[in-house]
Amino acid sequence: MSVAIKAVRGVHDILPADTPRWQRVEATARRVFEAHGYHEIRPPIFERTELFARGIGELTDIVQKEMYTFEDKGGESLTLRPEATASVLRAYVEHGLHVQPKPVRLYTIGPMFRYERPQAGRYRQFHQLNLEAVGEVHPGLDAEVIAVLMELFQGVGLADRLTLALNSIGDPACRPAYREKLVEYLRRRAAELCQECRERAERNPLRVLDCKKPGCQPVLDEAPSILDALCRECAEHFAHVRRYLEAMALPYRVTPRLVRGFDYYVRTTFELLTGELGAQNAVAGGGRYDGLVQLLGGPPDPGIGFAVGMERVVLLLSSDSNKAGPLALLIPLGDAALLRLFPVAQAVRKQGAVVELGYGVRRLRSELDRANRLKVPYAVIVGESELEKGEALIREMTSGAQRVVPLSRLEGELMTLAGRR
Ligand SMILES: [Zn+2]
Ligand SMILES: [Zn+2]
Repeated sequence: MSVAIKAVRGVHDILPADTPRWQRVEATARRVFEAHGYHEIRPPIFERTELFARGIGELTDIVQKEMYTFEDKGGESLTLRPEATASVLRAYVEHGLHVQPKPVRLYTIGPMFRYERPQAGRYRQFHQLNLEAVGEVHPGLDAEVIAVLMELFQGVGLADRLTLALNSIGDPACRPAYREKLVEYLRRRAAELCQECRERAERNPLRVLDCKKPGCQPVLDEAPSILDALCRECAEHFAHVRRYLEAMALPYRVTPRLVRGFDYYVRTTFELLTGELGAQNAVAGGGRYDGLVQLLGGPPDPGIGFAVGMERVVLLLSSDSNKAGPLALLIPLGDAALLRLFPVAQAVRKQGAVVELGYGVRRLRSELDRANRLKVPYAVIVGESELEKGEALIREMTSGAQRVVPLSRLEGELMTLAGRR
């Protein structure tokens, strides 16, 4: 016997018991996004490495440590996408989507890849819903995008269990001065910070605010707030976003320490947080990225978007799916009965009923045992004597009660039972 081949470390199979929840999230996302005028785009899952180095930022953890980068047979450096925004905007520029009326509203659903230490709920191939709105600087668009996100979570029944954290991280006009102030503060209190924070303080000081280690919290809580350092334009933008969210009765919590892992964000940033998944408490996050399209070689179009971590959303959904199993197991006893039941199964399936059909080779008792394990409410039995009389037995699995129906009416009987479910 050969040794069974296992999946690669850090990836996971989404098994049939779980796919109903995945499908529910995807279907809700498509419905909500399309209702707001967003259209699906499907970029490839690998790109030139340069796209992510430039688009996400050379100094980010993602680009420095977490990318799946390889050389193809032509000697070109390629990378499996670690996030979707850079790919979507690359396509936006490459195909001239910017000539369309703005904002251009796009979404995409699919796998992302990051070489991270595998741990509970964190995978090297994971899945995201991504939404991007490009070409408009008005704070009304920020509020719209956040409202779409909230409607998605209302649609899957999770909105009440999540908190919307909101912040502004300024722009190139006001952030450099804040950054300096922050570095100075972090240096002064370096002795009280963890090793990672001390390293980050020089490289990527805003990310230090993200540290979850309890020991660092007192220092970070007292750190200067970005909200006190915003220039007039950024402060006004943020005030408008807040006012629009309030007009839509969308609750949020201003969280000055909320920064995101990408260099490209400016002004509005947001996350949807849960207390139910331990330290990895964000199920979605996003922000404004004015300047990114231009950085990728396109026009100076501003934009804003979000990503939803599907693994985390699915974890929060209860596993009792309301997707019904099969209505009935059709049990022919012998090949002649199978020949008679094939067209019946075909006819009811066309009308939307889910039935399973045996092959006529097992004993009745083992077929009934299978019906129990499939948890079907009904079994339909056609043996030699039933076939001779032109009849079928419909057995109610829980009570064991059986009744006879003419084979000619079996299709109609099954559809009546399907209608009652
Ligand atoms: Zn720390
Ligand atoms: Zn500013």
